[in-house]
Amino acid sequence: MENCIFCKIIGGDIPCDKVYEDDRILAFKDIEPQAPVHILIIPKKHISSLNDLAEEDSKIISYIFLKAKELAKNLGISEDGYRLVTNCGKAGGQTVDHVHFHMLGGRNLQWPPG
Ligand code: AMP
Ligand code: ZN
Repeated sequence: MENCIFCKIIGGDIPCDKVYEDDRILAFKDIEPQAPVHILIIPKKHISSLNDLAEEDSKIISYIFLKAKELAKNLGISEDGYRLVTNCGKAGGQTVDHVHFHMLGGRNLQWPPG
């Protein structure tokens, strides 16, 4: 997707602080971390938002959750706990229109979020 900043990161046109990559997903540090651990996990396939998920995307979404579990362990936040969250649309706080999951950890997170 031409004007998508995350597609540009996937393509290597914009640098990122990579945490994990394979043929299907990429995980990298958020540029404005909201917690000691704050990474974004994204599918390499461009999907604009949760609203645009299709039945065929169910595999990639479940794969992201399974990899998130592994990443949390590798990042040392598994035992204390962490949050995996996705924002959808304007009211949901989505600012980048490429589905992404925020993994936040390393501190006690508040609930409800703002
Ligand atoms: P959201 O507001 O849920 O759409 O989240 C978008 C996230 O992407 C924000 O937390 C931003 O800080 C983050 N972000 C935007 N541009 C970059 C970038 N070039 N590298 C890393 N993270 C970014
Ligand atoms: Zn994209």
